[in-house]
Amino acid sequence: MPGENPETSPLKYKRVLLKLSGEALMGPGQFGIDIPTVEQFAKAIAGARTAGAEICLVIGGGNIFRGMAGAAKGMERAQADSMGMLATVMNALAMQSVLESQGVPTRVQSAINMDQICEPYIRRRAQRHMEKGRVVIFAAGIGNPFFTTDTGAALRCIEMNCDALLKGTQVDGVYTADPKLDSSATRYEKVAYQELLAKDLRVMDSSAVSLMRDNNIPIVVFSLKEEGSLLNVLHGRGTSTTISNEGGVAK
Ligand code: UDP
Repeated sequence: MPGENPETSPLKYKRVLLKLSGEALMGPGQFGIDIPTVEQFAKAIAGARTAGAEICLVIGGGNIFRGMAGAAKGMERAQADSMGMLATVMNALAMQSVLESQGVPTRVQSAINMDQICEPYIRRRAQRHMEKGRVVIFAAGIGNPFFTTDTGAALRCIEMNCDALLKGTQVDGVYTADPKLDSSATRYEKVAYQELLAKDLRVMDSSAVSLMRDNNIPIVVFSLKEEGSLLNVLHGRGTSTTISNEGGVAK
């Protein structure tokens, strides 16, 4: 994804939601936000926008705080999840700042009202922003504990009438097993939602996958590390896995 070049050929997916984990923002660090890494993502997003894509974003919060981790240490889960949601707002504000420094008009909408620092989530207003070419960053997940930003990404993707949910990860698709642990693992070119759920291939939360299946919108899993990967996915090329109602076999 770093250093994407602008390009104008037709897009396979015009309106997309890009989901980044909070951990992706850590870059080489172990915690928090690495601004040069955010700058790389912002550059790729700017390039995709120049190519004609309408983009909205959901960024996780795992680089700062995860509710499950707090609960494991004795915190009340709902309280810990609120902290996790606040972490996603920090990431959203960092991304907004960097995108705007690169000339990309951006709005942050939060599922938890924080009127002094960002807009509240209003579906129709968010759609209008996208029509005007603004990148909308959805923060605070769905605003409820016991959920994750994967589910938030699926919900906002559907609400924004996106053509696809693009899930940027550390690997270039969905494998039959964890490629780091099993050298015989092979990558799916396409896989059906149902197979992903039945085999418990943990790419996204099952609630997020179910939502996408019920609304028949594809999820494309791709690597954030590869040069030009976001533009490749938007054009329907490059290495990735598409999760949809069409079944598929591993390569
Ligand atoms: N979270 C939540 N409700 C939501 C979205 C997120 O409670 O709708 C909390 C939850 O504690 C989660 C944290 O926010 O652990 C950070 O989100 P997530 O773990 O999805 O981030 P990622 O793994 O993508 O970095």
